Amino acid sequence: MEARLREALAAAEEARQKLVKEETERRVLFNKYQELKGNIRVMCRVRPSTDDDRSEQAGISYPDEKTSAEILLAGPEERSSLGVVSRKNYPFEFDRVFTPAVKNEEIFGEISQLVQSALDGYNVCIFCYGQTGSGKTYTMSSEDGMIPRATHMIYDTITKLKEKSWEYTMEGSFVEVYNEELNDLLTPNDGSGRRLEIRHDDSRKQTNIVNCKTVQLKSASSVEEILDEAQKNRSVAATKANERSSRSHSVFILKLVGENAATGERCEGTLNLVDLAGSERLKHSQAEGDRMRETQNINKSLSCLGDVIEALGRGSSHIPYRNSKLTHLLQYSLGGNSKTLMFVMVSPMETHLKETLTSLRFATKVHNTHIGTAKATKKMKGGD
Ligand code: ADP
Ligand code: MG
Repeated sequence: MEARLREALAAAEEARQKLVKEETERRVLFNKYQELKGNIRVMCRVRPSTDDDRSEQAGISYPDEKTSAEILLAGPEERSSLGVVSRKNYPFEFDRVFTPAVKNEEIFGEISQLVQSALDGYNVCIFCYGQTGSGKTYTMSSEDGMIPRATHMIYDTITKLKEKSWEYTMEGSFVEVYNEELNDLLTPNDGSGRRLEIRHDDSRKQTNIVNCKTVQLKSASSVEEILDEAQKNRSVAATKANERSSRSHSVFILKLVGENAATGERCEGTLNLVDLAGSERLKHSQAEGDRMRETQNINKSLSCLGDVIEALGRGSSHIPYRNSKLTHLLQYSLGGNSKTLMFVMVSPMETHLKETLTSLRFATKVHNTHIGTAKATKKMKGGD
């Protein structure tokens, strides 16, 4: 009896070790696959028209049904000197194009692979770029958006990884960049004037925000509390909360630290989910005072984001992270060591056509860059 028990225990232990080893191998293979797909990806999402949309639909078509990577835009009407009216066609190609019928669930299917990478110890940035009203916030932080979905998936995965000897902690913070200043969205603005400060640890390639509240996410539902809290603090901070949120970048930061007692492995990954400020190019002449400053700051930080990604793609030795607060904050999650996904969000309306074209051109510039192979910030404990 005792011998058989020992045998069974030995078999169980062997099976457990195999499981643990398989997880290590899975990580290596999964990352190879992600690198083949590209460490910078650009996808386009066209939102459906809503009851608030009063104008005509723009001429948008999707020529490749199978590959779902192309979008064709009928440009604005042009009148020749002879009075003939014509439209130019503008084709664009990205890693994927999502038509208006696609739901958040399917969008998350693409994102979930990068969430997995963050769990495996990589730094990941996911951006929503586009003009105000194009669907950025709906995609990121609505009830079934990417932020709640990512958090739930991480929570489920962490629970499952326990049987492979991995123990994880998940910590969340939520900040906004407004007029090149960083604000904590999880702390009510009490007027104490405590400034948030970005501290980079160059040896660990980790960023810490001094004075910023971080919340341990111990249950899957705690993310909803964070989102509510952020919304509350926003509306206190600004009389017109919606307007303010479309004039600032918000960054949801999840820090994931995993340790494996059986193998001594440790990994540290960060997932940044970024709802960018509206990309519409307000003419400076139309804006005055505060609005003008806002506009200049938004224009500057969005073009700086494009510049940083482009410099990374060129393999430049100087990357201008410091030119804006946003790229400075995300320094270790952009480039060599990390994975980036940019969603360019598009409104289907004719009145938004010009901004849509500008957005798609910006996204094309990002899509044309390629970033070097990412390495996990994974180390053996005690070593480097
Ligand atoms: P943005 O954050 O880019 O300014 P929003 O996310 O607020 O835009 O979207 C503008 C409007 O369109 C909102 O009323 C939102 O609910 C709606 N909307 C956006 N995307 C979708 C979608 N995929 N399906 C249904 N409604 C959407
Ligand atoms: Mg928004």
